[in-house]
Amino acid sequence: CFDKILISACFLGERVRYNGEVKALASQLLSQWQSQGRLISVCPEVISGLPVPRPPAEINPKTLQVITIDSVDVSQQFSQGAQQALRLCQQHNIRFALLKESSPSCGSNTIYDGSFSQQKIVGEGITTKLLRQHGIQVFSEFYLKQLQGLLDQ
Ligand code: SF4
Repeated sequence: CFDKILISACFLGERVRYNGEVKALASQLLSQWQSQGRLISVCPEVISGLPVPRPPAEINPKTLQVITIDSVDVSQQFSQGAQQALRLCQQHNIRFALLKESSPSCGSNTIYDGSFSQQKIVGEGITTKLLRQHGIQVFSEFYLKQLQGLLDQ
């Protein structure tokens, strides 16, 4: 039984992004993992009940609340989505996740700075943070080869 990978649903071309756009990640490694049956897909925001499309949200770096561009606090939904992603990992004995960089849920190295001005800062999304607290290693689309190196073959 080989390693499964939790993956951001948007990478697989699912229509889950805040702006309703479909943007699959094209990669040979990804196709390989998919054909091996390794991928367990989740969108933490949609699984928590947020709609598609939805207003963009960013983490306020001071309060750590997740706030939409319309100033609505969606911290609760983001946290529920993270819990459900964690549950999926536990159900499938997942040690690795491949999540979309800079998303307020899925970012693993950078996130937007909370000012909705396209400025990124070092940080991690709500789901990434929870998964890492539970020992799951989270990689972005820029670290596919590193992830491949850690998988059992
Ligand atoms: Fe993709 Fe994660 Fe955003 Fe969902 S929350 S659209 S999976 S980056």
